[in-house]
Amino acid sequence: MAEVTARPSRSAPQAQAPAGLARSALAPMEVAGRIARLRELLEGAGCDALLISSHSNIRYLTGFTGSAGLLMVRADDAVIVTDGRYGEQAPAELALSGAPARTEALGGAEQVELLGELVKGIGRLGLEGEHISWARLRRWSEGWAKDVELVPTSDLVEGLRERKDAGEIARIAAAAAIADAALLSVRPMLEEGPTEAEVALALDTEMRRLGAAEPAFETIVAAGPNAAEPHHHPSPRKIGNGELVVVDFGARVDGYCSDMTRTIRTGRGRDLVPELARVASVVLAAQDAGLCAVRDGVAAAEIDRACREVVDAAGFSELFVHGTGHGVGLDIHEAPALGERSDDILRSGQVVTVEPGVYVPGLGGARTEDTVLVTGAGCEILTLSPKV
Ligand code: ZN
Ligand code: ZN
Repeated sequence: MAEVTARPSRSAPQAQAPAGLARSALAPMEVAGRIARLRELLEGAGCDALLISSHSNIRYLTGFTGSAGLLMVRADDAVIVTDGRYGEQAPAELALSGAPARTEALGGAEQVELLGELVKGIGRLGLEGEHISWARLRRWSEGWAKDVELVPTSDLVEGLRERKDAGEIARIAAAAAIADAALLSVRPMLEEGPTEAEVALALDTEMRRLGAAEPAFETIVAAGPNAAEPHHHPSPRKIGNGELVVVDFGARVDGYCSDMTRTIRTGRGRDLVPELARVASVVLAAQDAGLCAVRDGVAAAEIDRACREVVDAAGFSELFVHGTGHGVGLDIHEAPALGERSDDILRSGQVVTVEPGVYVPGLGGARTEDTVLVTGAGCEILTLSPKV
């Protein structure tokens, strides 16, 4: 069986976030070599140059955090084409990351002109198929790109992003530590009859107070019958005694996300509906089986199977209505996919979630989720909040 350990630097959630969340205090990321690694993939993808339009991918390759811009990667140079809002920020971020690229902050017409210049002499220009709208493709192919062959590519940068370097892992672990500390401080509030929305707001505020840039996604707080919806929006419904509350949330630190779900039982001493008590314990056992299956070289679908076996044996197979997990990084959902039909193989250095759930319509539900680092021997759990 694979080895499941907690992040060595921490064994339990602490009330305080890790000291020194400033970028300089976290292990550095190795951004500078990423464009060169991408270049090695271009020939195999059938293109001479690649235009990156996904902001997460541009950030990964260069450290540029702006919300507008394109990155042209050619055989011998790389250029971020952005607008005047980023005239100072873009070069400063590149200087910090050491990425071998230059930036051009221009007005709309000049951007089009520059793109036309940059593709002169290029036969086949790759575009990111998953990130280009139909309208944009049409505009480009009738405009600055009319003389170049446009080639759809898929998951080139996403593939590079799967295995994290030490700096990326440090950021995800810091985000996980913040989420743990936030839950530790907000948890007592659940016994005071707050609304779901109040708990979500308290978690979000606490994560920011502890140093998160923002929540990694919209915090889910789903209590009582609402917990039957996996992605319930926190509502004005008051949380009662003797209920299961599904809390699914994460923090973002320097761009990187954490993701954790806990199913918390309110009103100790009050009896839980027996079926829900069983659902909660089956989910815990399923998650444990999933965590124990994680290891370098294992098919991602195996983790899903390990969880599903426990859920199926309990007779809840129809009620586990989603995949078991996903990669976590700059995006809250990224490769690999841990689902029944996934072809992905887990590799050490990937950071993934294991999150089985069982949802009983009209009654409630439970989900438990950890963010874990895949290792050669098993996995290292980054989210350490207690599960019962
Ligand atoms: Zn989650
Ligand atoms: Zn998740």
